[in-house]
Amino acid sequence: MAQKDDVWEKRKRARQADDDALARRDHLLSRVTKSDNEKAWEKAGAEYLKANQWCDECDKRGYMTPADYVVHITAPKDSQVLFWDIRNWKGVCTNCQRRLVGTAPLKFLDPIPQDAKLYTVK
Ligand SMILES: [Zn+2]
Repeated sequence: MAQKDDVWEKRKRARQADDDALARRDHLLSRVTKSDNEKAWEKAGAEYLKANQWCDECDKRGYMTPADYVVHITAPKDSQVLFWDIRNWKGVCTNCQRRLVGTAPLKFLDPIPQDAKLYTVK
């Protein structure tokens, strides 16, 4: 019964396609879901931009452009301190953000607790 086999084969392929679609959806969702660290970074960045409203890069060239993003002056890589120290931050406009950072992924490091005794000399 060749026809019956065809139907069976078609069903099997359709089921596989469904599974693939589900796997793709899960993969996309996992990229959309923000981690707590990413949320903390966005919140801190929004606060920073309230106080630092102009693009630092454009300012150097004598232009005043509203800042849309916070970027690190020195790429933090795996340094929690470089990541969260606002002295290592600057506000930039969308164009400057693209030019400086592009699509380079940012690794969201754990926030430093308020009570961390940084730079204390004993
Ligand atoms: Zn700019």
